Amino acid sequence: MKVYKLERPEFLRNWLSEEREVFQPVMDATGNGSWQPIAHGAVEEFDDELRPLMSPKDFFFSEREDLFRFEAGAENPTFKPIIPRIEKRVLFGVKACDLKAIAYQDKHFATDPNYQARRRQTLLVGIDCHAPCEGGFCPTVDAGPTVRDGTADLVLIPMPSVAGEQAGWWLGCNSQAGEHAIWGMNLKLAEEGWDYWRKLTEKRAKASFPNDTQLLNGIRRLNARAIPDELWDKLGIQCLSCSGCTMVCPSCSCYAVEDIKTPTGYVRERFWDSCLMEGFQKEASGANPTQASGKRVQRFWFHKFSDDIASRMDDSYGCVGCGRCEVTCPGSIGVHSVMEAIANA
Ligand code: SF4
Ligand code: SF4
Repeated sequence: MKVYKLERPEFLRNWLSEEREVFQPVMDATGNGSWQPIAHGAVEEFDDELRPLMSPKDFFFSEREDLFRFEAGAENPTFKPIIPRIEKRVLFGVKACDLKAIAYQDKHFATDPNYQARRRQTLLVGIDCHAPCEGGFCPTVDAGPTVRDGTADLVLIPMPSVAGEQAGWWLGCNSQAGEHAIWGMNLKLAEEGWDYWRKLTEKRAKASFPNDTQLLNGIRRLNARAIPDELWDKLGIQCLSCSGCTMVCPSCSCYAVEDIKTPTGYVRERFWDSCLMEGFQKEASGANPTQASGKRVQRFWFHKFSDDIASRMDDSYGCVGCGRCEVTCPGSIGVHSVMEAIANA
């Protein structure tokens, strides 16, 4: 990785916004933060600690979109794909866990033209974390706290603070697209030793994460399939099928489609679905392998932490340790609660 010195992230943001639409996390009235566009020349400070409750997955895997149109002409019925037209844009300040989730989704949607049309036009500017976020456990699943190699085009690396003051930033460049985007900024190369300080920051950050023994034990027992059905049934009772977990989860990718009638044919619409909903796996015959709520909870967590599934996804779990499900779940069965229950069953 080529690394430069950067006085302030806002200088980079302003440079990038000359030719691209830039989005960054902004605190909003909900108190959860959200991804919002930042105009060129904006003086708004970049909040390097804010991580919105909703991940940026919607930028690529749209919550609701049309996929194709079917025109039922008597002579020439036609299918026309509806590919989104996206201007060049930047996601500025994406945390390591969300970047790992984007890399996971890239693989899952590798041949999806709508996802790829959005992904191709988006430059990812990641940022290293120097402290755990609420409920986060990214080191346990190798998703953070520093940006993992190859998951961002550019990486904002905080320099160590001097007397409590941030001394400045380094800017890591990880891709041709990143190099091209900063060409002309005339940034100076970082002095030797930046990687020592980065590793030290990561070591300190990792040391401040809560103990993850229960989580690891839970994952181990889940893979050993050593969990009694009664426990899944009990956890199932706590699930309200609200789909909050799957909406906030950056690596969840389930969707459903519906064909909507138009005056001349149909439009196929795709929208986010949730495997915690009763009808998710219902078959045309009426059979439903996950009618019982406990089966759905079991299936969800198996998909997150199965070694078999991870081996098909470059050895990455379907969970990037963001902790959002723990924060969101009204039934108190987010990741920590479930893994702890499994570990102690
Ligand atoms: S957030 Fe909790 S209650 Fe809602 S669907 Fe997910 S597991 Fe069930
Ligand atoms: S399962 Fe929970 S902790 Fe894991 S990535 Fe999804 S929301 Fe984050």
